[in-house]
Order: sequence, then C-alpha cells, then structure tokens
Amino acid sequence: MNAENSWTPDQPIISMRNVRKSFGDFEVLKGIDLEVKKGEVICIIGPSGSGKSTLIRTINGLTPVNAGSVMVEGQEVHDEKLDKLALRRKVGMVFQQYNLFPHRTVLQNVMMAPVLVLRENKAEVEKRARALLEKVQLRDKEDAYPLELSGGQQQRVAIARSLCMRPDIMLFDEVTAALDPETVNEVLFTIRELAEEGMTCVLVTHEMGFAKEISDRVYFTDSGRIVESGPPAELFDAPKDPRTREFLSKVL
Ligand code: ADP
Ligand code: MG
Repeated sequence: MNAENSWTPDQPIISMRNVRKSFGDFEVLKGIDLEVKKGEVICIIGPSGSGKSTLIRTINGLTPVNAGSVMVEGQEVHDEKLDKLALRRKVGMVFQQYNLFPHRTVLQNVMMAPVLVLRENKAEVEKRARALLEKVQLRDKEDAYPLELSGGQQQRVAIARSLCMRPDIMLFDEVTAALDPETVNEVLFTIRELAEEGMTCVLVTHEMGFAKEISDRVYFTDSGRIVESGPPAELFDAPKDPRTREFLSKVL
C-alpha cells in the first residue's frame, strides 16, 4: 500500500497478533491471533455475541483496536498513517444487510465506488461491472432497482459491487443470515466460485455444512477468544475443546 512495503505473497496476507478490543468496560476481543495465507478460505464460527463481527471488522479497519496488531499485506491496518482508501480497495466486505442504494440501478450500484471514489474511467468500470453481473448471474437485472430483486439477488449485487473494486481479500459477515432459505444457496454458490478462483476469503457464517466444505481452516470463537482452530475435518468431526463440542452439538 506504499513504497516501503516489503510484503511478498508467500507471507501471510492477513496477520492478527494479540488483538484486543473493548467497548467501554466490556472486552469483546481478548487477544486474537489469526493468520491467513493468500488464496486461503477461512471460516469463523461461534455463538452470537462472541465477537465474530468485531473481529472481522478490525481486518479492514472499520473497528479500531485497543491493542495488538492487524497486518494486511504487510501493513499495519491500525496505523494512522495508513492510506485508508487503499485499504478499503484491497479488502472488500459484504454484510448481512446489503445496503444497496435504492434509487440507483443494479449496474449503477456496482459501478459507483470505482467511479466516484477511485475516479476510474467510467467506460472501463462499466465493462468490468457487466462482467461481474454476468459472474453472479444477474446480467439481465442490470437496469433493475434493488427493491425489485429478491434478497439473494440483492446480496449477489452487493458481492459484485465489492468485487468491482478489485479487492485482494473478501470479508463476508453472515451474508446469508437474513435471506429466505431458498435464496441462500445461490449466494453460497457465488462465494464458492470466488473461493475456487483463488480469492482470499474470511467468512463469518452459521452455514456449518458450507463452512465444512469450503474452508481451508475454521476458527471457533467464544467470549472474545479463539478457542480452537484447524482444518474443517478436524474441527467439525473431532473437536478438542468442550466448548467447541457443545456449540457444534447445538448447530449441527
Ligand atoms: P458476534 O458477531 O459474534 O455476534 P459481535 O462482535 O457483534 O459478536 O459483538 C460482540 C459483543 O460486543 C456483543 O456483546 C455486542 O453487544 C458488543 N458490541 C458489538 N459492537 C458494539 C458497539 N459498537 N458498542 C458496544 N458494544 C458492542
Ligand atoms: Mg455478528
């Protein structure tokens, strides 16, 4: 993100060390260590309120930390001198609430940030946006308005919008949690395609089957700590910690 960065792709693309975050007196993250390699797909699972959203939001600087370090491509995210715009471009994020602009068409929503924020050439962005809508199978909806679409379609627009910034990393925070059950799979399909193409992905999800199938590693969080992490076959089928076992017995 700036000239002196000596990061190379064989080093972790995300590296969190002893990250702590409090809201008032309440410590939500109690020393998080997490490492992601380029092209890896990581899932974070855990009970509601365990700090998953807070954790993922520290990766793109949306939530400031109280202690510890979050490095993305070798640069400290929480360094006040960091180019925030460059960080936002490199780390895309999709939320449970897709927050598309209701008075803009699908195509305009996808094009907006690169054109208005990055000041990129409009014709080039438009070409890219159309290709992305094709990718998420919504090319025929480019002139529709968000509220004319199903939740799953809107979420796919949100993913295309994020991808139009050409990020290196995608963060997904419970992106299917608010969807009608019949539209969940189309969104998971889009994410799976991205993952298979080698996009580095960090997902917070309640879709355990999907997490098991898609992730290289799974992290289980409880009360602001990472209790256990490992390959999905180990964590899901042979969890070591009693808290992981208890959680999985409730959700599987
Ligand atoms: P999860 O995503 O695992 O459900 P969160 O990271 O959203 O957990 O929240 C963890 C805890 O931090 C919760 O108790 C929540 O109420 C609290 N919290 C999250 N964001 C804020 C905030 N902005 N101000 C105060 N408390 C917050
Ligand atoms: Mg959350």
